[in-house]
Amino acid sequence: MVKTFSDLNLNSWLVRQCTVIGVKHPTPIQVNCIPEILKGKDCIGAAKTGSGKTLAFALPILQELCEDPYGIFALILTPTRELAYQIGDQFAVVGKPINLKCCVIVGGMDMVAQGQELAKKPHIVVATPGRLADHLESCNTFSLARIKYLVLDEADRLLGGHFDEQISTIFKALPKKRQNLFFSATITDTLGKLKEATGNEVFLYEAPAEV
Ligand code: ADP
Ligand code: MG
Repeated sequence: MVKTFSDLNLNSWLVRQCTVIGVKHPTPIQVNCIPEILKGKDCIGAAKTGSGKTLAFALPILQELCEDPYGIFALILTPTRELAYQIGDQFAVVGKPINLKCCVIVGGMDMVAQGQELAKKPHIVVATPGRLADHLESCNTFSLARIKYLVLDEADRLLGGHFDEQISTIFKALPKKRQNLFFSATITDTLGKLKEATGNEVFLYEAPAEV
């Protein structure tokens, strides 16, 4: 049977928002990951580009946000500015009914203005690692110490490569207790290692190979 967004334990306002943005049926990665994320598990989700990974993490985060809003609630890291803006846009559109404050922190924009945005305690920060690490090293207008979710979008591209130093600076600013959501087109050894490192129960979803 084809699942609907209501079958995934999402609140009715989120199901309504999916319809508003023209999304009717959840994709397989959404069907599989959303209920497990809502149960509080860490999640590693792998499926090819275009399979709807953004909503797979954005919907459960938005649902939890409504129940317990405080400070910066979720941090989404992604390797490029373009992806950061796309993710920020999806959060903004879906989160409109709850007046979601989402802040995109990428290179090439004014540091001072960004610092001011961060100081306003947005609910969601979407960032590229380099610029966020710059902010953490240069100012203290904001804190990531109470985030509930860390999302690594395109996790394979963020881990085990030239982002290592920046990612490590960022991880030091995060609370130990948090839910980790890693999404990627492929699962590599790096993701396997992270699976071992996290203390939480991890749900792993890998889209079946296409025939
Ligand atoms: P990925 O991160 O896996 O590459 P995205 O999350 O960027 O994919 O989604 C790709 C496109 O598919 C976006 O335009 C998004 O709005 C759309 N989309 C997401 N979920 C669904 C769905 N359940 N049904 C139809 N379209 C969807
Ligand atoms: Mg994506």
